Amino acid sequence: MSDLDFISGSKPIGIERGEGPYLYTDDGTEYLDVGASYACTPLGHSHPAVVDAVQEQVADLTFVDSSYPVQSREDAYASLVAAAPDGLESAWFCNSGTEANEAALKFARSATGDSKIVAATRSFHGRTMGSLAATWKDKYKKPYEPLAGDVEFVPYGDGEELAAAVDDETAAVILEPIQGEGGINVPPAGYLETAREATEEAGAALVLDEVQTGMGRTGEMWACQNAGVTPDVLTTAKGLGNGLPVGAVAVQDWIADGAASHNATFSGGPVVGAAVHATISTLVEAEYPAHAAEVGDYLVTELEAALGDSVREVRGEGLLVGVELKRGANRVARDLAMNHQVLALPAGRTVLRLLPPLVIERAEADRVVDAIADALGATDDS
Ligand SMILES: *Cc1c(COP(=O)(O)O)cnc(C)c1O
Repeated sequence: MSDLDFISGSKPIGIERGEGPYLYTDDGTEYLDVGASYACTPLGHSHPAVVDAVQEQVADLTFVDSSYPVQSREDAYASLVAAAPDGLESAWFCNSGTEANEAALKFARSATGDSKIVAATRSFHGRTMGSLAATWKDKYKKPYEPLAGDVEFVPYGDGEELAAAVDDETAAVILEPIQGEGGINVPPAGYLETAREATEEAGAALVLDEVQTGMGRTGEMWACQNAGVTPDVLTTAKGLGNGLPVGAVAVQDWIADGAASHNATFSGGPVVGAAVHATISTLVEAEYPAHAAEVGDYLVTELEAALGDSVREVRGEGLLVGVELKRGANRVARDLAMNHQVLALPAGRTVLRLLPPLVIERAEADRVVDAIADALGATDDS
């Protein structure tokens, strides 16, 4: 079995419907979805606020191009800019995370007039030619080379190496505030500040890829807010439309002013616009970021207590949690799915990744902890 077999459509579980953090098969079996299908459903599956907004919009006007003002697009734009960190006053919508990062790198190059991109080891920014060039894993890249050029990699988490790589020719530094795909890697305190200072000094753009960390998951709307750092460019996708395919780039004025021609036919379409507006409004009004912080802390504490020495480490922030195992994560994820009806994701070879919808409560966290403890044969003395 190749590494990807389990995560690429071969799960023998036919999903028919979803509600909150649960997915159901046609025979009514209930699965607790702790992967949230890669963090795409922060409000839980088929959240009524998003469903209603999308159904209404798809019936009224499914599509018109972005040269016409449409209320749902304007609402989406206003809610994203309001929810973005202060200082990011403009946004551009696209259809996915990789497309958001492509745009980010293009905008950084045109605004600075430079070309060099500094990226980090173990990064993941997407699978189109530009984003892929800034992605670390050779397995994703090698067969498709040559990719976009002028990318230099530095070890993730090492501020000195990062600062040393940023120079007058640097257009952008692109980083995930916490690496998702690469194994839920939390950088040391001060790392993002160092990246902020180094880019500012060199006149380069700091691009923070919040495709996985954003939308309230880490306890703030954006993970960079935990570090008190405002990027020049912030990218988002995954949970932005609670399951509809949409991404966005939020930028500071100097990036917006320096951006050359760029667009996409489906940019900010009415239906995804309705989804974005409903998703952000609901997240903000129900204060789900704070809820994610609270339940996330509880989940990590309980995991540590229950798993003890049977794992290497439990780490993360809010409801972005990685459990570093002493064995392969694919097999454990399969066991959790088949024997405990808990759906989790691997992140790299040995990390079990938990990205539940932000709506989960302590009772669901308990169920996750019990299932993992059982799958690992850890004695639960709680
Ligand atoms: C998933 C992901 C992407 C790519 O998003 P797609 O929508 O799959 O193109 C980019 N960056 C990060 C951090 C991601 O987790």
